[in-house]
Amino acid sequence: MDVNDMMFIDPHVHMISRTTDDYQAMKEAGVVAVIEPAFWLGQPRTNSGTMKDYFNAIVGWERFRASQFGICHYCTIGLNSKEANNEALAEEVMNLIPRYAGKEGVVAIGEIGYDDMTEMEEKYFHKQLDLAQKMNMLVLIHTPHRNKKQGTIRSMDLCNEHGLDPSKVIVDHNNEETVREVLDRGFWTAFTIYPGTKMGNERMVDIVKQYGTERIFINSAADWGVSDPLGVPKTAKLMFKRGIVEDDIRKVCYQNAFDAYAQSGQMKEEDWLNRPLIDQRETFSGNTVLRGGHAPYVETAGGKLSSKKESKSSDDDLIIE
Ligand SMILES: [Zn+2]
Repeated sequence: MDVNDMMFIDPHVHMISRTTDDYQAMKEAGVVAVIEPAFWLGQPRTNSGTMKDYFNAIVGWERFRASQFGICHYCTIGLNSKEANNEALAEEVMNLIPRYAGKEGVVAIGEIGYDDMTEMEEKYFHKQLDLAQKMNMLVLIHTPHRNKKQGTIRSMDLCNEHGLDPSKVIVDHNNEETVREVLDRGFWTAFTIYPGTKMGNERMVDIVKQYGTERIFINSAADWGVSDPLGVPKTAKLMFKRGIVEDDIRKVCYQNAFDAYAQSGQMKEEDWLNRPLIDQRETFSGNTVLRGGHAPYVETAGGKLSSKKESKSSDDDLIIE
């Protein structure tokens, strides 16, 4: 087995902002499963109804859309830190969360935490940790991009105050300044690969060389901004090139994310090892992923996709091995 045949999980990616080309490229690069944390839209929501529709989309249509490209899709449900600053909205969203958090494919409460470390952010961080505790759910923590170290330490302190088991909490967006303490305190330690800036993949390789692979895993956090949904497979290749052994690559790019989120009981390896064959003739609420007479792809048992419309050139077709 070499790195080109490995399976990958991207445990933090906002697929709702991505294209079908991204799904196709991820599939071809070996991504078998993705986790979509509930997030903001790049601009503030004006009412909780749009949050409700958003939750419906990430537990419903997006999950279906991923399946049409052979990728298993899970999500987390929560009130993000930016929108926690709108108290009226936040109160209404808090009433929605328990209903959505219990739905199929929801693996955690998240992404929650601090953005500017305001009083309101702290209030809803507390409330959501309480809820996670009550519902016995995992927690995904977004650590702030400013005051990273302080925000990360404070986030872990809050989890401890609420009596959450660190093995049930994923602390995300770590860097060289935070990794040691997060590992020492027993939390899952996740890293986002930001193309070009911040946590580039060269730096990630160095972190793995220095800190090992216990409880460390990576994600792309790709969203509507400049980001790369192939961050996980690309970093795996770079690790391989720089002499990290396959077993370690597998832990950081697949196994640890799986072990963390499988604790939810919502994510099983069987989901992708035995996933249903792709049939793009399928519908979700009457809608398909097909547009403008595009021929549906129907995967056959050998794993190859065939097109129902014989006239279409196979070169244009989605190729999934
Ligand atoms: Zn995110």
